[in-house]
Amino acid sequence: MKPYRPSNTVPGTGWVWLLALSTLGGVVVGGAIAFIARWLYLLLIFPALMGFTSGGSTAIAIKRGKVRNPWVGLLFGLLTGLITYGSYQGGEYFFTQQSFAKQIEAEFGQDIDPAEANALIDAFWQEQTGSSGFLGYLKYAAKQGISIGRVGSSGDGLPLNETFTWLYWLIELAIIEAISLAIAKPAAEEPFCETCEQWYAQGQRIGTVADDRSEIFLNTVQADQMVQAATYIQAKTVAHPRLEVDLRQCSGCDRGEVALEVQRYSENKEGEGKRSQVLMGMLSHRQSLQLSEAVSASSESDHKPESDANESDASQEG
Ligand SMILES: [Zn+2]
Repeated sequence: MKPYRPSNTVPGTGWVWLLALSTLGGVVVGGAIAFIARWLYLLLIFPALMGFTSGGSTAIAIKRGKVRNPWVGLLFGLLTGLITYGSYQGGEYFFTQQSFAKQIEAEFGQDIDPAEANALIDAFWQEQTGSSGFLGYLKYAAKQGISIGRVGSSGDGLPLNETFTWLYWLIELAIIEAISLAIAKPAAEEPFCETCEQWYAQGQRIGTVADDRSEIFLNTVQADQMVQAATYIQAKTVAHPRLEVDLRQCSGCDRGEVALEVQRYSENKEGEGKRSQVLMGMLSHRQSLQLSEAVSASSESDHKPESDANESDASQEG
């Protein structure tokens, strides 16, 4: 079976979607987190949240903009994460500046105008760190050090010195980027019909494969032996861990290539389901018919139709 290869096309509207959602999504989410962080900052959870929104908004732009280039998806996942975190730190900068301005106002009275106050703040950062503006603020904040540990209070908890504060910020950024990339890149690797200019429809489940037959099933699929592969597929949903076998097609043309998607499904002790893609490849129209007909033929001969076992399983997590 040949793998699915994206065409790497990025239409003009795709760039517009990517640029719009990466800046908009980044600024809105980063700004909102900076606002909330004045009262409460959740370690790991907020960076993870920023990662999910970065990846999610990039994935929406990819779908809407019909972006079929995984590298562009990766790049914008990265960029959106950077804009989000930059906006968060930028928001912190803005709010710190505001509270400094209030202090100055309290000291000098109302007759000092905002521009003068800002100049004073810049001069302060310049004096403390050798840089003014946003960079001056960052260096100053790092010098002050942050403290981590107690949720919602900056007073107690584990204080971090300058080096560890920079390191901690770097870790936050890494968390955001890792999650963002993991969501954005696969979105651009989904099968797309270049004739109809649309994404393939959601998968049609043809059956599941029990764990002990997974390996041989995957091998026979890779070797293009569809009739034999079909003998390992059961039309009913077998116990987890299992492989779930779906066929995906373009809804616009019914003669085109069909994508075969195989996902592994397992549940942990708490019953939370997890799906991960094992295989995505292209079948000719004839091969896909061969496969689905062989599965339904074998299930008819094996079982009496007791209940609709092909119906969806309980948890659609993931
Ligand atoms: Zn099509």
